[in-house]
Amino acid sequence: MLDIRFIRDNPDLVQRIAEQKRMELSVSDLLKWDQKRRDLLKQTEDLRAKRNQLTHTIATSLQQGHNQDAEPLKAQVKDINKRLSVTEVELTHATQQCDNLMMLIPNIVSPDTPVGNDDHDNVEVRQVGTPPVFDFVALDHVRLGEIHDLIDIPRGVKTAGSRNYYLKGNGLYLHLAVQRLALDLLTSYGFTAMDVPVMVRPEALTRTGFFPTGQDQTFEVIGEDKWLVGTSEVSLVSYYSDEIVNVTEPIRLAGVSACYRKEIGSAGRDVRGLYRVHQFAKVEQVVLCENNNEVSDRILQEITSHAEEILQLLELPYRVMAVCTGDMSQKTYKQYDIETWMPSRQAYGETHSSSNVLDFQARRSNIRYRDHDGKLQYCHTLNNTAVATPRILIPLLENHQQSDGSIYIPKALRPYMKGMDSLSF
Ligand code: AMP
Repeated sequence: MLDIRFIRDNPDLVQRIAEQKRMELSVSDLLKWDQKRRDLLKQTEDLRAKRNQLTHTIATSLQQGHNQDAEPLKAQVKDINKRLSVTEVELTHATQQCDNLMMLIPNIVSPDTPVGNDDHDNVEVRQVGTPPVFDFVALDHVRLGEIHDLIDIPRGVKTAGSRNYYLKGNGLYLHLAVQRLALDLLTSYGFTAMDVPVMVRPEALTRTGFFPTGQDQTFEVIGEDKWLVGTSEVSLVSYYSDEIVNVTEPIRLAGVSACYRKEIGSAGRDVRGLYRVHQFAKVEQVVLCENNNEVSDRILQEITSHAEEILQLLELPYRVMAVCTGDMSQKTYKQYDIETWMPSRQAYGETHSSSNVLDFQARRSNIRYRDHDGKLQYCHTLNNTAVATPRILIPLLENHQQSDGSIYIPKALRPYMKGMDSLSF
């Protein structure tokens, strides 16, 4: 959430960013309701003050036995009460309108964010590693998963519908191994490992910026007033909601959780295999730091480099993309996506997403700290995937397949794979 004072001072800028983020909203509507709310608040306060004054005068008149002086004043109080009953209702309505519209206002974007419509306009920042060239007929992860008995999609669909799967045997071990590798790396960098609630109150989603805009992507737990998170970022940021924290050293959290997504709007897209599924697992980095763009920008580079280190340990070729305005979410100030080479697509596919949201979430979640002068400030919050699986199994299986049908296991994964250096039939 932006500060309303910032929106009042910069309505054109905020409207332009909304358009660049392809959001349909009217900043002038918000400001009209904001003005109305402020006018009504003033009227209500003035009426209440007048009533207090009259009530006091009536009490004094009655004490002094001047009952007849009190009568016209009582009539005035009655009239004020009547007017207040109207302005109070109008004030509640105007406040509600403002609050609702404020929830839709986008965060500002960094000056170096590319302006564009969708992911085609994202800009490559760097490429690391070289996509393999196979001198045999390479298979996709679905076929490799079948041959090695790692993945069973037909039975996943039979049990749970489309975009579902089973992982079996070493398929599950790989799924767990990439998460353990990521978690161990993050904890070695001072992150606190966290298991988190995945079924949360709607307020947690609203206050972290996932509702109302992302509500259609979220599974509701009927009868519970709870929803399933699409990322542990929701639970990790909410851990500190309504608290005053100490960010002298940034707070670094590594959440491990199942993630659930409806994938509304993706009908017919990425239907084969494990790319776009309804349930997956993610090790997520979340950092809270002081309200200082230089500090949070440095942390954005840091958490992006952690994801890159994990990909390097997995010996996978990837590229880092600067995400453009049209491919960003409402809350994002600056974003990098990392795309890993997927041979079956003959293309890089997104595997990680790294964002600085400045104080957007902290303002909605009321997470503050005391600065050097003892003044309360909203923190900055950042998030990035450390690893998301089973999507990462796509490049892992496909890039590491060998001509004899075996699959090479990168050295860094072997301690989590019972020491195996390859998967064979
Ligand atoms: P996000 O939290 O949307 O930035 O996504 C972070 C990462 O989670 C993506 O880069 C993917 O690796 C993974 N991911 C997101 N959505 C899905 C999905 N529906 N199925 C599988 N993996 C996903």
